[in-house]
Amino acid sequence: MSDDSLVCEVCGKNESVGIACSVFGAMSMAYCSDCIRKNRDSYGLLVATAACFPVPSDQIKLEDFREDLRATVTATMKYAGKSWDDLRRESTALLKEMAAYDGGAKGA
Ligand SMILES: [Zn+2]
Repeated sequence: MSDDSLVCEVCGKNESVGIACSVFGAMSMAYCSDCIRKNRDSYGLLVATAACFPVPSDQIKLEDFREDLRATVTATMKYAGKSWDDLRRESTALLKEMAAYDGGAKGA
């Protein structure tokens, strides 16, 4: 890896092949070819996406995601070693954190 190379922000291991927009939202990240090929995205962005869904984050399930995103959701969770309970708990916690930062609870 050269000094000016970027590390993949999904696996944190491989040199990225470029910057691209995440499938989870309008945010760009560095991806390696392995993560792209295996349909993986950032677990942190998945948590943030789940927290912003119009369904209660503590009840979120695969069917709540757009059909074309479900393979990425599954691959991302599998790679991160996370369960649906983890995602529900972490997105609910993030939502509470955002509400507190915002100075008041909005939803959740
Ligand atoms: Zn990667």
